[in-house]
Amino acid sequence: MRFFAFGRISLYLALVLFAQTATAQWHRQAFHTLGTQAYIEFWSPDANAAEIITQVQAEFERINQLMSPYISSSELSILNREAANSAVQVSDELYQLLRQARQVSELSNGAFDITFASVGFYYDYRAGKKPDRSQLLQQRQYVNYQSVQLLSDNKVRFAQPGVKIDLGGIAKGYAVERAMKIIAAADIKHAQLTAGGDSRLLGDKRGKPWLVGIRHPRQDAKYAATLPLQDTAISTSGDYERYFIEEGVRYHHILDPKTGQSTTGLMSVSVIGADTGRTDALTTTLFVLGLQQGMQLIEQIPDYEAIFISADHTLHFSSGLAQ
Ligand code: ADP
Ligand code: MG
Repeated sequence: MRFFAFGRISLYLALVLFAQTATAQWHRQAFHTLGTQAYIEFWSPDANAAEIITQVQAEFERINQLMSPYISSSELSILNREAANSAVQVSDELYQLLRQARQVSELSNGAFDITFASVGFYYDYRAGKKPDRSQLLQQRQYVNYQSVQLLSDNKVRFAQPGVKIDLGGIAKGYAVERAMKIIAAADIKHAQLTAGGDSRLLGDKRGKPWLVGIRHPRQDAKYAATLPLQDTAISTSGDYERYFIEEGVRYHHILDPKTGQSTTGLMSVSVIGADTGRTDALTTTLFVLGLQQGMQLIEQIPDYEAIFISADHTLHFSSGLAQ
């Protein structure tokens, strides 16, 4: 009798275990967020996949509401309206991100500079609009990361009127990193999360690496390189993301703070490293610095590597990838 009962219990246990492994599968979802296309893929043993996707989307939207320049109630918009008049207290989260942005500015001697927006707001790539010469000269003087004063108590002040900031070079990677923390907290071990050019990989693809393609900068459907990666972040910036061409000149969305104009020399930069906020900011930075100075900078940052595609279609790898 006892034996029989035990048998039933173990049979029951076996069924439960079978049911769990049987429902584990890859879940995939594409969605639109932060003005770009996003994609999530993860291996989940439970029925909680829909809930995880909802939470991830909500996290992106929360950050959008905080940092979008297109939402007038966002903290970023409030700063742009008011911080030149008086110090504005912001959330701890935005304050910390502004600090991170400043660190990258200091590291790159101002190549990365969120006040690029002072002139950046005069570009509209979809409408093919750019500042005219006098606007360029006028607005360029407001581009200086040191004008963003990070005061005590999470207060921020702009040193002069005319200064505008935009976090387009760092916010997407930051959001990807945050959203991946939600996925990891749900006990997921294998996941990929991408928003625009910023990807975070959690674990591997169940026994094999994830394969991440770097787009060919001039042929949409092609890859210039494919990298086997796991447990890391990779960001790519390209001059093909947002741009228009006028009289043979490509006006794209990465601006040199010194000139207020689109950078030349590189078509694409990818950075690989642990943190997606950092890989995102670094791609923009290296794009501005160009191949030579950009390579020098990335070689100084431990555990971060880069792939540059120069205007002559040549690939250049930092030393950690070049073996
Ligand atoms: P995306 O993934 O949107 O293509 P990137 O990582 O390539 O983003 O960064 C480009 C964005 O960074 C631009 O759209 C703009 O918002 C912002 N940006 C442009 N130039 C600079 C700069 N010199 N410093 C900081 N941010 C910049
Ligand atoms: Mg970037």
